[in-house]
Amino acid sequence: MSKNIVIAIDGYSSCGKSTIAKALAKKLHFIYIDTGAMYRAVTLYFLRNKIDLNDPIAVESALDNIHINFEYRDEQTFVFLNEEDISEEIRQMPVSEKVSQVSAIKAVRTAMVRQQQRMGKSKNIIMDGRDIGTVVFPDATLKFFMTADPQIRAERRYKELINKGEKVSLEEIYANLALRDHQDTTREESPLIQAADAIVLDNSNIDQEMQLEFALSYIRPLLIDKNTQ
Ligand code: C5P
Repeated sequence: MSKNIVIAIDGYSSCGKSTIAKALAKKLHFIYIDTGAMYRAVTLYFLRNKIDLNDPIAVESALDNIHINFEYRDEQTFVFLNEEDISEEIRQMPVSEKVSQVSAIKAVRTAMVRQQQRMGKSKNIIMDGRDIGTVVFPDATLKFFMTADPQIRAERRYKELINKGEKVSLEEIYANLALRDHQDTTREESPLIQAADAIVLDNSNIDQEMQLEFALSYIRPLLIDKNTQ
């Protein structure tokens, strides 16, 4: 059997990584794995159980009690934390405000990366995050690095949350994105950096259809190669 295809999509917060990853997964019949959702699920567990982030023993034992699963229904991805559907709650501000601090903890990353590598072992997958092309799958078949103007990213995320009925301000969203970008790019453990062999996709001024076409122009030749092997 030929080797499975792994497409890695990394980039800054709210660049539309998951939107393009989902669209590609649907088109190609690949499995989509949202690694940000995994760090968000861990953060939610830590918040609910008041885990002291500076206590390595408390962190380790909490990680032993965290089981994250994805379910795919009606073209949507649902995230489960110990069998509870937490898909909505992990997108809310309390989690967004804490997640970059939690994801900077080495033990948290080790546990999540292990799970992510297991998920991508034998299936064709699209995985998005911050360290997929650099740490989780350095040998990924294809790597994209997404970026966009911070103001445009904040406006997109603001509209998304407002449409869901959340009470947030644009300033608050902008500040959260800027802080997360800063924390993600400067942390010691697996900081967000562009892999040397990643294809850059700046979507500040292009619509979703153009992004999809851009990505597919790199993916299609791979599928032809696979089919002729
Ligand atoms: O992708 P999303 O914005 O949902 O990710 C939430 C946070 O999880 C990021 O700001 C980052 O701190 C962390 N993260 C990470 N590594 C990944 C995916 C997400 O550190 N692979």
